[in-house]
Amino acid sequence: MKIVGGGLAGLAAAARLGDSGVEVEVHEARQFLGGRAASFPLSPGSPDFERIDNCQHVLLRRCTALLDFYRRCGVEDKIRFHDTLHLLSPDGTVDRIRKDPLPAPFHLARSLLAMRCLDWRDKISLLRCLRAVPRDRLRDDLDAMTMAQWLRKKRATARSVARFWRPFIVSALNEELDRASALPALQVFGEGLLSSRTAYELGVPSVTLDELYSQALAGRLGPRVRVLLGSKVNRIDANSGEADYYISAVPFDRVSSLLPDLPIQEVVSRFEHSPITGIHLWFDRPVTSLEHAMLLDRQIQWMFHKGGGYYLIVVSASRGLESKSTAEIVDLAVEELRDFFPVARHASLKRSRVIREARATFSARPGLERWRPGPRTRLANVFMAGDWTATGWPATMEGAVRSGYAAAEAILETTGSETRR
Ligand SMILES: Cc1cc2nc3c(=O)[nH]c(=O)nc-3n(C[C@H](O)[C@H](O)[C@H](O)COP(=O)(O)OP(=O)(O)OC[C@H]3O[C@@H](n4cnc5c(N)ncnc54)[C@H](O)[C@@H]3O)c2cc1C
Repeated sequence: MKIVGGGLAGLAAAARLGDSGVEVEVHEARQFLGGRAASFPLSPGSPDFERIDNCQHVLLRRCTALLDFYRRCGVEDKIRFHDTLHLLSPDGTVDRIRKDPLPAPFHLARSLLAMRCLDWRDKISLLRCLRAVPRDRLRDDLDAMTMAQWLRKKRATARSVARFWRPFIVSALNEELDRASALPALQVFGEGLLSSRTAYELGVPSVTLDELYSQALAGRLGPRVRVLLGSKVNRIDANSGEADYYISAVPFDRVSSLLPDLPIQEVVSRFEHSPITGIHLWFDRPVTSLEHAMLLDRQIQWMFHKGGGYYLIVVSASRGLESKSTAEIVDLAVEELRDFFPVARHASLKRSRVIREARATFSARPGLERWRPGPRTRLANVFMAGDWTATGWPATMEGAVRSGYAAAEAILETTGSETRR
């Protein structure tokens, strides 16, 4: 069994197959695992120097497949869950969203009603729209409209859109409301926020991402899984006899060249990228005691405190930053951060690093869902995984792991192998 791609999709497939007694080789082109969820040394010349993640990667308690994968790697305890989400307004107001004793889907109602950045009209509109989510998720025309159109139809107030819907959707889907399909957007709210009392809880790794995969390299995925780094596969030739089965676990823009025998170009042409920018800032002191916060009404969207004076600022769907130089992006981030945290006005910036991921995820546009391929292909011994395939989830780590598991299950079904979870 040959898996091409050592991102979460490929690793998840390997874990599942290895666990079922299948001999697996994972071929990863780069010298490290994790793909788009990866870490690297701050100073490339000295690999032992401080390592940072390309960007903050978070999950929700609802990401059950990803948590299962972390459990298989023995690193589940490296994810810290937070039951309070902070929404910060530039005037310093902090709104806290957390569960109250009511059962789902009403468990967040008290926090939402207490939000100081919304007035009572906004709150009524918000609760009305949220109430419609479980029913509207089942509409069959949902993937034909954008989330902005859905919110207009529901008469959501402008402020509830700007201060609630947009911050959640843009960070979860990495796309703007007027570009994102309402289908994955309502999926995020239906599953991620409302499905259970704890679904919304935010998981933040307490270690760098590469530490999460180190166990995969150390053989934790089982004796049958072999990981080969620096092993780029130029082409999968299904008839070569090199392996009995293959899984392509590469991003959508790589799959045509990897699988020239597969008529997949038309599918791939439907996909386009959406960028994310991570702005790493090291101040000479801590500027807030909050560990993380959503930042409202500014271009910067999320702040994560990484310890000491180190803060990671995230801008999803960051097309607005594309024309700016690195120095301009740092200036903008520092200036906006000072609006939220007055202490930052007196702190000096010691170091910064801007990481622009132009190909961060696919853009979840209306109509795309039906083009996402399933795990089986027209070639009987070639299977497909990756966050862009049909997982029912947006382009996330959870989607990637689900796709890997689905490809593994499809192979086990084909071969009739005994499945062992
Ligand atoms: C900046 C940023 C922030 C993000 N934030 C979050 C977040 O907070 N939460 C979340 O859930 N998701 C987040 N995501 C999305 C998440 O990282 C991806 O959805 C997920 O990691 C995709 O995994 P994958 O295995 O499908 O693809 P990839 O991670 O792209 O893995 C594919 C692998 O295949 C390898 N490869 C490609 N071609 C070949 C070849 N020919 N031979 C061998 N190997 C090859 C690549 O090197 C790569 O390692 C973020 C993404 C980015 C970029």
